[in-house]
Parts: sequence; structure tokens; C-alpha cells
Amino acid sequence: MAEERHAMRLETGVTLVNALTGEHVQGRPKPALRGQDLIRAATEALGTGNSQVDLLTAERLRNLASRLREIIESLSRREPDRAAGLLNRMLVDSKARPSLHRHGEQSWHLRFHGPEADLVQQWAAGLAVSVAAALGDDIPHRVGLCAAPRCDQVYIDASQAQIKRFCGLACQNRVKAAAYRARRSGA
Ligand SMILES: [Zn+2]
Repeated sequence: MAEERHAMRLETGVTLVNALTGEHVQGRPKPALRGQDLIRAATEALGTGNSQVDLLTAERLRNLASRLREIIESLSRREPDRAAGLLNRMLVDSKARPSLHRHGEQSWHLRFHGPEADLVQQWAAGLAVSVAAALGDDIPHRVGLCAAPRCDQVYIDASQAQIKRFCGLACQNRVKAAAYRARRSGA
């Protein structure tokens, strides 16, 4: 149960990172988002029909996404010490603190932000805890940075074998085609 919730939150984190940060996507340059485009991208990434996202919130979400990207890139480069240091800082800054909460007659659930937290603080606390769980508690979800050239997309690898290297088929095929061309021109 807890694992599923961490996995869902990780997925949203990866979506935020890919939506709001990065300079290239699948071989193409990715212009930095501004104004309404930034608000739209942030709202879509959160995916809850969120009406609370104004420009300042969207910018704070992008800042959060940049911090998360740094952590994922460290993990991808197999620098767990650096990732753990960044995560510990994110846990402190987010003021994450677990508490049990219930809406009306629903069952109690564990959340990681205090009652005073706004939307960005809620996500910061939840994401920090879920990424920390993935790193420190060995939940079976590896995060990584696409290995293809000119692509900054990050991904989650939930497969048993954990052999994912690319953000998707587009990049996998791009790299395969380049290797094939290189072999042909070499032969
Ligand atoms: Zn890619």
C-alpha cells in the first residue's frame, strides 16, 4: 500500500521534472516555459484539475522539479552519497513531518506535510519522502536519466531486471539507428 503511494508520487515527480525542466527532449531543443505555458504545464503535470496554480506557484514547482532532477541525475550517475545529501536537504527544507489524517468517514492515511503547508510544500514533502523511500528503503523503483544524446528526460524503471536506459522507444530507436549508421560507415 505504502509502496504504491510512493510509486504514484514518484511518477508525478518524474512527470513534473520532464514537464518543467530540461533543455532537450528526444534530440530536439526544448524552449524554457514562461507565463501561461508554464502554468499550464505545471497544472497538467500535477494532473488533478488543479486550479490553485498561479505563476508564482508554477515557478516554485519548477524550482522543486529542478531539485528533484539534480537528485535523479546523481542517482543515474551512481552517486548515491550526493543524492542522499541533496535529499536530506530537501526533507529539511520541505518541513516534511508524518502525521495521520482523515477526511470525514474515510480511513486514516499517512501524509507527510503539516496542516499549514501550501500546494508546493505538500508536494515537496511528499516527493522528498517518496524519493528517500526509493533510495533508502529499497522500494523496487529505480530512477534514471535518458542515456540518448540530446535528451534530458528522466524515467522510472519498475521492471524486475532494471535495465531501462532510455526515456522511451523514440530515443532507443534513435540510438540504435545511429549505431547502425556508424557500423555501416565503418565497414
Ligand atoms: Zn530520451
